[in-house]
Amino acid sequence: MKRLSVFLLLIISTTLLLTGQRKIINLPDLPGYVTLKCDFHLHTAFSDGNVWPTIRVNEAYRDGLDAIAITDHLEYTPHKDYIPVDHNAAWKITRNTARDYNLILVHGAEITRSMPPGHVNALFISDANALAVDSVWDAFEATIKQGGFLLWNHPGWKAQQPDGIPRMYNIHHRLIRNKWLHGIEFFNHKEYYPLVMTFALENNLAVFANSDMHGAISEEYAGKTHRPMTLVFARERSHDSLKEAMFAGRTLAYFDDMLAGRKEYALPFFHQCISVGKPYYQNEKSIYLEITNRSDIPFYLTDGVPGTPSSITLPANSATRVVLSKSNTNPLIYNVRNIITGESEVLKVELKY
Ligand code: ZN
Repeated sequence: MKRLSVFLLLIISTTLLLTGQRKIINLPDLPGYVTLKCDFHLHTAFSDGNVWPTIRVNEAYRDGLDAIAITDHLEYTPHKDYIPVDHNAAWKITRNTARDYNLILVHGAEITRSMPPGHVNALFISDANALAVDSVWDAFEATIKQGGFLLWNHPGWKAQQPDGIPRMYNIHHRLIRNKWLHGIEFFNHKEYYPLVMTFALENNLAVFANSDMHGAISEEYAGKTHRPMTLVFARERSHDSLKEAMFAGRTLAYFDDMLAGRKEYALPFFHQCISVGKPYYQNEKSIYLEITNRSDIPFYLTDGVPGTPSSITLPANSATRVVLSKSNTNPLIYNVRNIITGESEVLKVELKY
């Protein structure tokens, strides 16, 4: 009997070790690249977050992400009376768990200063403790010496810019002149900053969407299909390819039902998501066809030219029946209302059948 229960216990514990599901996010790759789904801005109990670092891996696995960075504040450690301060601790505690879950873990930290320069994430670093120095410029320099990537967080955050409008100060221009600033958050937590698109395009910065999560992800984005994430187009699914792709600026921000980023990635990404079928029926008046959207993102096409449907909605993971007038000779050109490619510009596409 005793033997049997030990045996049962063994079966149960083995089963527990083997289970665990992750969500599958339906987003296409780009030709020559794999699309990595990433969240590069996360807090834990090692700064002002409420969760233990390994929970960030469990959450990311469940959410179907490929990569995360834990970016605890260097200058703000309110739990220090209970948890000793070691800015590398969250990374050390998490790296084996990340390996066990096949998740890419990026070593990071958040350089947390008043505006200017505001908050900046240091990613792909090797020693966060070396960044905990008085001068913010020295912290940036230490990041660069470690081969790190600097990401300007929430530039229009109302706690630092009461009107919500991002501004570039001398220190940001200096970072850009030095080629030390590599990315910028277009979307943070629950808000986005249209002007960031201009900063990104003018200064060659990669565009990001991150959660900046302090509590449990499941509570914050309950009812949403996904957390905000940065899509990175990497040559392969590895830490080093991810890094190369980010320095090359191959990203799109994905949040709610929106995408934001450079046209050169947004346009092929859109065309990888959808396919226009051959007409399956036509008579003297009309042509009938289907447009299939194989992604999790619905697309809202508006501003069709005269003679074509004025708008077409392509729901996620669905095929949409479209009837075109046979007398029309105009192209099917649309604005995709939920793909932002500039401060006040959305992606323009042409559908061909
Ligand atoms: Zn943060």
